[in-house]
Amino acid sequence: MTKDIQTVGVVGAGTMGAGIAQLLVQHDIEVHLYDVSESVLTLGEERVLKGLERAERPGAFNLMRKTTRMDALETCDLVIEAASEDLAVKLEVFRKLDTLMEPTRPIATNTSSLPIARIAAATENPQRVVGMHFFNPAPIMRLVEVVRSEFTSDATVATIEALAESLEKTAVRCKDTPGFIVNRVARPFYLQSMRLVERGAGTPADIDRVMREAGFKMGALELVDLIGLDVNFATSTQIYQALGSPDRLKPTALQAMLVAKGYLGRKKSGGFYAYGENPPGTINPVLEDLVPEMGSHPMKPHDVLKTVIDAVVQEARVAVSEEVASRESVDTAMRLGMGWPKGPFEWEKTISRDAS
Ligand code: NAD
Repeated sequence: MTKDIQTVGVVGAGTMGAGIAQLLVQHDIEVHLYDVSESVLTLGEERVLKGLERAERPGAFNLMRKTTRMDALETCDLVIEAASEDLAVKLEVFRKLDTLMEPTRPIATNTSSLPIARIAAATENPQRVVGMHFFNPAPIMRLVEVVRSEFTSDATVATIEALAESLEKTAVRCKDTPGFIVNRVARPFYLQSMRLVERGAGTPADIDRVMREAGFKMGALELVDLIGLDVNFATSTQIYQALGSPDRLKPTALQAMLVAKGYLGRKKSGGFYAYGENPPGTINPVLEDLVPEMGSHPMKPHDVLKTVIDAVVQEARVAVSEEVASRESVDTAMRLGMGWPKGPFEWEKTISRDAS
């Protein structure tokens, strides 16, 4: 099926580029990994080799080539760009690739947040530019969001979907809109959990426990601590602003205050929880100052769950009404991209049944 894709160029040898390269060689596709310096490439190759060893496929490393010369990608059947999330960098890379490669060959970007159309517009052949959004770690996470801009051709989408299938991924189609599916529909999961803490419905541990007991691997607040409060806040702010600042997606004052005070989560000073010597689940004591009412208006577990899920469902409905993706694609994307036990529309059915 992807007989016509035998060689893929990967731009950027960081976390995602190395993961994507590993995935490709594991599926018998030759990879030309390109980055700006030999030392970065050497580190990238080490990551690929370690990943292949973990996957018990070290022999696939024979299919890896590395290069600091972009013209080595000229004959690739397809290129996947996974360079730094910086528009200027991506525009430059796409301009160069576009002049280098034959116009029928697709060029995909793994961007999480930049508009595909903006990147495509930097090329003479915007029909071959498409989003191929992998999730971290790329060799393991099953979801790929295939993001189509107004310029992307059917042939380009078909090639990317066939490639995703041959890599044993589930591809979901998605319109070129802020946060695509997963990062957007996940926003209320985080925001609503924080709002419940702000309004005294429970401590972070109370809210997270309800979500875990409902089948989520982690509650939103412990997950934000893991991601980094600053990184999560930046994503929330970017999507909120790009969608025209709707109240429902407004980042919380609590998270803004924590970030401003340097509480970034597990990586620095703790976040909603305290780490280090503290027993697991210890609430960060600073929350008592920031939310004096914390836990003083406790909510029943079912109401906590319903409040969070209702907000997620609302966002999913808005996204579907804006034709970002189908209901089925949203459910699939949230299950595979976030590891949720059910997608929003599947939750909606269960929750209304429980309530009846
Ligand atoms: P990273 O910082 O780990 O790696 C980026 C790499 O790009 C670096 O090795 C850097 O040297 C290289 N680079 C910078 N400028 C370049 C250029 N002009 N040409 C070639 N290489 C260049 O970043 P990452 O986390 O791997 O993210 C890469 C892309 O994937 C970003 O667009 C990001 O939004 C997206 N993404 C990241 C994740 C994630 O969880 N990390 C998930 C999905 C998508």
